[in-house]
Amino acid sequence: MSTVKVHDKQFEVYLSEAVILERVKALAEQISQDYAGKKPLFIAILNGSFMFASDLFKQLHIEAELCFIKLASYKGMKSSGNVVTSIGLEDDLFGKEVIIVEDIVDTGKTLHHFLPKLMHQQPKSLKIATLLHKSEATTYPLALDYVGFDIPNKFVVGYGLDYDGLGRNLKEIYQVI
Ligand code: 5GP
Repeated sequence: MSTVKVHDKQFEVYLSEAVILERVKALAEQISQDYAGKKPLFIAILNGSFMFASDLFKQLHIEAELCFIKLASYKGMKSSGNVVTSIGLEDDLFGKEVIIVEDIVDTGKTLHHFLPKLMHQQPKSLKIATLLHKSEATTYPLALDYVGFDIPNKFVVGYGLDYDGLGRNLKEIYQVI
């Protein structure tokens, strides 16, 4: 299927399943080399990163831990857009080698606000792995350690990413037409 409709919008294939999986495997190889002899903790950010996290984790050939968290932004009852809390982070990060797993970094705002909270727990190291990066759109300073694909500043769905709740199950990544 080269085009799909999700809600009111039409999307076309941008990255095929084979291309994604090949790149994910290469990232896993690189991470396995970089973390040889260490036991990193992968912290995958829900919901979008579940598929990437799963495929990346499967391809690792080192010992590693994985947990999933959700980020929430609240100001009173209203979302401020600034991440203030994470749900589901039970591990103590002190002294750990931590790798954040994201589906996509757009403006960089989410991670820019969240990373200091993790740093507060004094992990031994903290790196970021993101499948997609809209580098043209990134305005918040952020060092990305592992990037799958640098993509244009256009809305994408599939492979875990949604458009208003739908499209996550698509095996490919689609770009809005
Ligand atoms: P940020 O701007 O903070 O870097 O990106 C925050 C979040 O916006 C991402 O984690 C992702 O959930 C969402 N996002 C940004 N660009 C896209 C996109 O093209 N498609 C989808 N489905 N979500 C996006």
